[in-house]
Amino acid sequence: MKYSILDIPQGFTGGLNQSFSESAEGLGFLAGEVCIQGQVNGNFRLWRDRRIVTIQGGMTADVSLQCCRCLAVVVMSLQPILTLRCFPEEAQPDTVSETGEVTPEDDTYMYEGIFLDIRPIIREQVILSVPAYVYCREDCSGLCDVCGQDLNGAKCGCVLDQPSSHFLALQRLKQTLG
Ligand SMILES: [Zn+2]
Ligand SMILES: [Zn+2]
Repeated sequence: MKYSILDIPQGFTGGLNQSFSESAEGLGFLAGEVCIQGQVNGNFRLWRDRRIVTIQGGMTADVSLQCCRCLAVVVMSLQPILTLRCFPEEAQPDTVSETGEVTPEDDTYMYEGIFLDIRPIIREQVILSVPAYVYCREDCSGLCDVCGQDLNGAKCGCVLDQPSSHFLALQRLKQTLG
């Protein structure tokens, strides 16, 4: 997963096709960052234009997340795809863009020295693909604000007074906007 830049072929047609199957630990995930189930699998193509390396590929990571309403564990299969241009750290992508080579919208990554390690890139792609709000199901009823009962099961019979209802309305509005 770590390449010497010089070993990466020039041009798309001669590019290297690589596949991988790595554990969360092997990819450098920190404890509590994202809870990966099993291996992260994927494949990508790697090619070079002088010292600019392009990586194009996709991966699958099964992660366990928490429903943001009822806190139930939800296992989700994330499948980020990427096209990433990697520059040597001393080169500024902005400078390169003046030649018309790179547009500012391109996803870029800086590498140090002559080695390009793919693992931090994969880790970052998995983290970026985690949705901000996860629901166990579309109409999850969440937890009771008063007693904490999971309202997807039995109703608890709590009566919400005025301020709480007001609070709930605000919360609903927030969820709609979110
Ligand atoms: Zn839920
Ligand atoms: Zn309740």
